[in-house]
Amino acid sequence: MWRDNNSDSKGVASRVTFQDYKSPKTNPVCDIECRDEGMLAGLQDFIDSHPKGDILIVLHQMGNHGPAYFRRYPPEFEKFKPTCKNSDLSRCTREEIGNAYDNAILYTDHFLAKIIELLRKNDPKFETSLFYVSDHGESLGENGLYLHGLPKAIAPDTQLHIPALMWFGSNFTDIKISALREKVNQRFTHANVFHTLLGIFEVETSAYRPEMDILEEARPPKK
Ligand SMILES: [Zn+2]
Repeated sequence: MWRDNNSDSKGVASRVTFQDYKSPKTNPVCDIECRDEGMLAGLQDFIDSHPKGDILIVLHQMGNHGPAYFRRYPPEFEKFKPTCKNSDLSRCTREEIGNAYDNAILYTDHFLAKIIELLRKNDPKFETSLFYVSDHGESLGENGLYLHGLPKAIAPDTQLHIPALMWFGSNFTDIKISALREKVNQRFTHANVFHTLLGIFEVETSAYRPEMDILEEARPPKK
């Protein structure tokens, strides 16, 4: 299932359940805009209705998308101040822009913590896991650049180097966490996401390339 609080799935979810969370009609957590955590509403019911099946839930966040970073979090997450309160970044200082961006990061931290909380509740019945990947980095004034989307050949590392995070529940015994920790400084790309998901779901297909699966070397040998 694909839940979306950003744009859409660009066709990726055209053959699966797609739910739009950008409107208060579906998203129960909206103020000046609808919040990412609203995508968690009713997810437990969805999980409960699939007691035996493998479930992949994609949550497409609004996250930190600019330039209006200050709109990307509820007021209680305004921890770093002063913040840029303008979509026209040229009217703000670098510090104000960075603060608004950091507040939005803080909100994503909170969102991810809520997901882990939900997965923990489902730990007894499932092999739970979370795979968080950002779609791109962001320029916040380094060398006079802002935002993202420069062609790859000239984009600075701040736009290309993305955060990613994995979390596994106690029943997810298919991998050795210690072996995975050793890979923490290796470089991966979005091209690894597809194969890693196939690996997590144990999908057997000729499209699967184990060498592209981030978890492959962390799996204990098959008996
Ligand atoms: Zn984006």
